[in-house]
Amino acid sequence: DGMNAQDLGKLLHREPAEIVKKLFMLGVMVNQNQSLDKDTIEILADDYGISAQEKVHEDLSNLDKIFEKEMENTEHLVSRPPVVTIMGHVDHGKTTLLDHLRHSHITEGEAGGITQKMGAYQVRHGDKVITFLDTPGHAAFTEMRARGANITDITILVVAADDGVMPQTIEAINHAKAAKTPIIVAINKIDKPDANPQHVTEQLTEYGLIPEDWGGDTIFVNISAKFGKNIDELLDMIGLEAEMLELKADPEQKAVGSVIEARLDQGKGPMATLLVQQGTLRVGDPIVVGHTFGRVRAMTNERGRELKKATPSMPVSITGLNDVPEAGDRFVVFADEKTARAVGEERAKEAQVQERRKTTRVTLDSLFDSLKEGEMKEVDIVIKADVQGSVEALSNSLQKIEVEGVKVNIIHAGVGAINESDVALAEASNAIIIGFNVRPTPQAKSQADSDHVDIRLHQVIYNAIDEVESAMKGMLAPTY
Ligand code: GDP
Repeated sequence: DGMNAQDLGKLLHREPAEIVKKLFMLGVMVNQNQSLDKDTIEILADDYGISAQEKVHEDLSNLDKIFEKEMENTEHLVSRPPVVTIMGHVDHGKTTLLDHLRHSHITEGEAGGITQKMGAYQVRHGDKVITFLDTPGHAAFTEMRARGANITDITILVVAADDGVMPQTIEAINHAKAAKTPIIVAINKIDKPDANPQHVTEQLTEYGLIPEDWGGDTIFVNISAKFGKNIDELLDMIGLEAEMLELKADPEQKAVGSVIEARLDQGKGPMATLLVQQGTLRVGDPIVVGHTFGRVRAMTNERGRELKKATPSMPVSITGLNDVPEAGDRFVVFADEKTARAVGEERAKEAQVQERRKTTRVTLDSLFDSLKEGEMKEVDIVIKADVQGSVEALSNSLQKIEVEGVKVNIIHAGVGAINESDVALAEASNAIIIGFNVRPTPQAKSQADSDHVDIRLHQVIYNAIDEVESAMKGMLAPTY
């Protein structure tokens, strides 16, 4: 049907030479322009994990799949900088720490600080580079994850030494745990007269964060973000943790990554901050970003400096897209602009359909079906209650439920109203929220409605437990 290695290379997002080489390995000797028969195309497509040639086009618009595939590529791995998010309770010093780093450890030793606020920046420390996401707060962190972008390698948990563990500290711990991100504890404000880092450390051990001196494996650093004390030690520890994680990427392939933030600029049009996660992004690259596409026209770093290319873990601000993507969207570079446009348009169409259908999430009503199909090995639950005693009673009882090997897993439990961060966590982790003598805030309610997160409210502990158990057994009374 006239397809040759060049055409296939474009479709499969591979160099034609690689296709020819692969064919050679499969015992087929052709040059790039020779047309291939249907069987050969199928074998080749199969080799790339695609069952039939017909599916090739369809698959191209599945950015997640291309993304996963590129991320698995291990041909020319080199180490890459860690991507770090700072989390913690309000007023414990997240912004102060980010600001301090922004001014004291700018890359390349240039004069002048960061001129563009673009959601992420890189800091130089010795011969190492660290990428910081400039979006403090776990709602942002978890919303990105809910959209499929798990880009954080290390979480810095900031806890004020004069205030100790607070509700959002616990939230942050649970969000980081749900994302399976290692935590480095930064006990901040140690300059304050009433600072008690020892007490904070003791409090944190209750949440499984135990320093090495005490037999655990969590890194603790006492800092003062305001006065820049021990910041170098903190950066050293990030470097150490990054080394242990052996973070690697292949800069030699076409770039894939995620959107950190995006906006419409009056003069420049759609602008997006992209984090390169694999490969090298270059000016001129045809690109599909979420449901939009274009060609990388200009690329700048956080100091407004024009760049020609961006390597793994680098955040860059780009122009040249035909629409504004969303934070957490993935991007993929294509071999040519025509394919990028076709895929982008296809995805824009799909997005409209999806908007109408909305993704299905786990709900108590659908739980039994999901369990039956063997899709789930545990039921993730977020608990919010009016008092700590109820939180504990409810989580203890729920954790005892076991139906046919499936268990309940409490990913977060706390006192207070159900908030937006709870909903984001439930969305990202496909969890159900149970409220005991509490209600969702209006924002959380509308967010849960639009994201289809199941919230169950109860006043009797037994009823809450019974409902979950019945749902797991497929015996939930229908709700009208
Ligand atoms: P965020 O809400 O976590 O981003 O907290 P901020 O960074 O806005 O800090 C809240 C307040 O704590 C501000 O008034 C900061 O100046 C102050 N602060 C932050 N870090 C320190 C510190 O190390 N020492 C002292 N004394 N104050 C700090």
